[in-house]
Amino acid sequence: MIDVAVIGSLNLDLVARCDRHPDPGETVLGTTYAEHPGGKGLNQAVAAARAGATVALLGAVGDDEPGRRLRQTGATAGVDVSRVAVSAAPTGRALIVVDDRGENSIVVVPGANAELPDGRLPAARVVLAQLEVPLASVTAAFEAARATGATTVLNPAPAQPLSPTVLALCDIVVPNEHEVELLGGVAALHGAGVGTVITTRGAAGVVVSDGTTTELAAFAVDVVDTTGAGDAFCGNLAARLAAGDDLHDAIRWAMAAGALAVGVSGAVASLPTGAATQELMALQA
Ligand code: ADP
Repeated sequence: MIDVAVIGSLNLDLVARCDRHPDPGETVLGTTYAEHPGGKGLNQAVAAARAGATVALLGAVGDDEPGRRLRQTGATAGVDVSRVAVSAAPTGRALIVVDDRGENSIVVVPGANAELPDGRLPAARVVLAQLEVPLASVTAAFEAARATGATTVLNPAPAQPLSPTVLALCDIVVPNEHEVELLGGVAALHGAGVGTVITTRGAAGVVVSDGTTTELAAFAVDVVDTTGAGDAFCGNLAARLAAGDDLHDAIRWAMAAGALAVGVSGAVASLPTGAATQELMALQA
């Protein structure tokens, strides 16, 4: 049995930095451009692996150079990518604009991610998913996870309306502030059968709702690029739950990892090691 099975996307991130975001119809001049491996599935799988978990990723890429590079990124981080299929559609792309305050806006073009074949995840303690792959694939993975007693964690990003059937399969849902609103609020999620809702609020920390409501303040760090904070949080949360931490210990670890991720540019590049995360936790105990 492995620690964490992730079902999710792999994208090539095309990142432009500029002073401020363009308004609709407007063109602004960028300052820098870079290409990075990304996609919430790959990011969260790498985040969990760097935290020390054994991880497998179920996903799809195109038969192209970015696809090979993304699989290699996962493999280099120690993620089992043998279930990342090679599809006829091109590898997914994310067009990311980051302004000088570190705020990002993103357009994702799914490509191969939309054609995720049916595949079996290996037996895992925690099964982690996001919404950049078809909902039917996530539902099937969570049904299988429930049958084996795994803990299911859904990061509902990008947000889309979710049926009560899907929500009833989620032990833990981790939305950010925008996503929780689009899903109708914390009470609606509990009403659909979700046991724990962890709302991440960037520099304002998190709110945990699991019968009681607890607010936790974020770790103090300088912001370079917020891309990857939510992915660092989710991957680390899954890794620590699989390691046997109780919920609040796992959340504190995930918050430290999220904070470290905003201090470095890019998504995969900004994901911290377990040692770095422990160091920040000790510094700001
Ligand atoms: P998303 O990227 O999905 O919008 P958040 O921005 O809410 O997710 O970040 C996830 C978590 O990472 C936050 O709950 C927080 O613990 C940590 N984090 C994010 N931004 C910062 C920040 N500026 N300072 C400290 N911690 C942060």
